[in-house]
Amino acid sequence: MPHVNLMGMDRAGMAQFFDTLGERSFRANQVTKWIHQQGVSSFEVMTNLSRDLRGRLADLSIVDTPQIERDQLSVDGTRKWLLRLEDGNCIETVYIPERPRGTLCISSQVGCALNCTFCATARKGYSRNLTSAEIIGQVWLAQRELGCGSSQTRSITNIVLMGMGEPLLNLDQVVVALRLMLDDFAYGLSRRRITLSTAGVVPGIDRLRVECPVSLAVSLHAPNDRLRDQLVPLNRKYPIDQLMDACQRYVEDAPRTRVTFEYVMLSEINDSEQHARELIALMQGLPSKVNLIPFNDFTGAPYKCSARESIERFRDLLCAAGIMTITRKTRGNDIDAACGQLAGKFVDRTRRSARLQKSSVARPLHQDST
Ligand code: SAH
Repeated sequence: MPHVNLMGMDRAGMAQFFDTLGERSFRANQVTKWIHQQGVSSFEVMTNLSRDLRGRLADLSIVDTPQIERDQLSVDGTRKWLLRLEDGNCIETVYIPERPRGTLCISSQVGCALNCTFCATARKGYSRNLTSAEIIGQVWLAQRELGCGSSQTRSITNIVLMGMGEPLLNLDQVVVALRLMLDDFAYGLSRRRITLSTAGVVPGIDRLRVECPVSLAVSLHAPNDRLRDQLVPLNRKYPIDQLMDACQRYVEDAPRTRVTFEYVMLSEINDSEQHARELIALMQGLPSKVNLIPFNDFTGAPYKCSARESIERFRDLLCAAGIMTITRKTRGNDIDAACGQLAGKFVDRTRRSARLQKSSVARPLHQDST
């Protein structure tokens, strides 16, 4: 019988597991604390469990995480880990220190199926959903690597699901991991300090609102359907008006919160005054804030980042209309750890990466012959 991985169980799941062993449910509290607060992965160390129970746990289960394949440090202190999963695929996790905060950016899928035209992850295609153990395992590993077991020196104060993948297309597994992040027996973060970012999966936003309402960020990037259909193809399925309605429902259920809208600044694509005005109109009546993200370049990218003055002008227009707007600082660019640069290494089941490679090889040949 394969071993059960306790890493990916929230406390309710763990209590159920102990129930099947004929053990009392408070064992779930003890083991959750050992794994996620003490960073323990061996049952031998769990000294408040009887020797007999430790032996049975070792026979039946494991506490397993991905393996660190590479660890890179940027000149600005940003750190990126390439993590190898059991099936050989690799994902990336990024830590961004920004005193007094320390933000961990985690992945939710191997690759991404959404194909946004400005994103490096999209180019690599998609392989599969991550399991809850692989999602929370990123937090577990980062905590260990950053050496922040004790609460005085906590270096992970915030977690963002803004790495590879679309978290709302893997919500079952993501919710289990979110519950562990929120659980006082595990990471004990408040809902405000956990942000899930989505490209706009409307039914997923509604499910998240009911099942586990953490802070919501929406990758908007365009203020009208015509442009957004091109940049974020998912918009053809869930157009902007449906998306904004879902955001309205989200904040109505959680008073005093705002939705963050991410807006990547693409030169001469979405950065004009007219775009700013359309965006302002969209935000009316919705408690929101806007994060402008300077476009991060990658090989073969079809866009350029907006000029600094255009970004400033865009921000000033939004601010003047009373919209809380910040320009996100680019971090970890030198190690390809910035927004949209995460690529990992994995088997692309969509064959998108192969098609792209072929077309880029074909291009110079074609040019030669004309
Ligand atoms: N799929 C989710 C989670 C990914 S979050 C989502 O779309 O929200 C990653 C964030 O970085 C998103 O806002 C994404 O749109 C943005 N991004 C992607 N490529 C980028 C690039 N090249 N430069 C700047 N931001 C980018």
